[in-house]
Amino acid sequence: MILDKQNWFSEICEEAGSAFSFRIREKLHEEQTPYQKIEIYQTENFGKLMVIDGFVMLTSWDNFLYHEMLAHPVLYTHAAPQRVLIIGGGDCGTLHEVLKHPKVTLVHQVDIDERVTRLSEKYFPELCASNHDPRAELHFADGIKWVRDAAAGSYDVIIVDSTDPIGPGEVLFTEEFYRNCRRLLGEDGLLVQQSESPIYHLELLSGMHKSMRAAGFDKTATLNFPQPVYPSGWWSATMAGNGDLATFRQRDCETRPFTTRYYNHKIHAAALAMPNFVEQHLMENLQDK
Ligand code: SAM
Repeated sequence: MILDKQNWFSEICEEAGSAFSFRIREKLHEEQTPYQKIEIYQTENFGKLMVIDGFVMLTSWDNFLYHEMLAHPVLYTHAAPQRVLIIGGGDCGTLHEVLKHPKVTLVHQVDIDERVTRLSEKYFPELCASNHDPRAELHFADGIKWVRDAAAGSYDVIIVDSTDPIGPGEVLFTEEFYRNCRRLLGEDGLLVQQSESPIYHLELLSGMHKSMRAAGFDKTATLNFPQPVYPSGWWSATMAGNGDLATFRQRDCETRPFTTRYYNHKIHAAALAMPNFVEQHLMENLQDK
């Protein structure tokens, strides 16, 4: 992470030998929590920016893409989702999208670091607008321990809105973690997790598919979507479950009683289409399982 003399903040992506920069107006906050270093900036063009351990988490301007794609496709793939667990997601943007679904009755959000939520309430109040919804319970605990301890069959959908697979988020990409998620979900339960860039992090993506299948999920499917502020500008989320992940409740989606800025039924179908190089890589890697 660099803030140069002209006030450009750059996130360096070492593995791709590239960087993405924002022109910064001012630094609004910086703190080291017991888990990670959190910074908040006012940018010139992207609104506010949250950075954790030098990595861009979100901006006011484009977070809707990520949050909508993490929440809505999985909720419209499940036949009747009521009980949702969000692991991570401390900025509360995913929670805000999930709570738009009137038939969701309970959301447990489990983020390891309360400071992410408190700072989000202050600097991104629009994402925290539903935090006091009676269906939402915010817990501040390690997601790994939560999935180890929770009762079997307690959720319909699990959304893993974690940091990158380094630091406290690393364990959220392991087979053991997925196995526990599988136990918490009933037979029809679905898991979705942010799965990095399809072009920069193909090895990670195929590793996730492999680990999810090894953990007992029969099917996996990746959704891809644009995300200007993440490395390569192209991001993904991967679903795991036991039924067909390629079809969804299209009619319910078309008549949804809430607004979205990016997500709709055509985007949902399009996001499931895999480019040849990704599909080929996933197939090759699943074969040598
Ligand atoms: N959209 C973001 C991205 O991919 O850059 C992720 C945003 S969200 C802020 C990530 C959250 O995951 C952080 O608030 C962090 O505290 C949380 N987190 C990391 N490891 C965790 C763990 N083991 N259990 C629960 N939450 C965790």
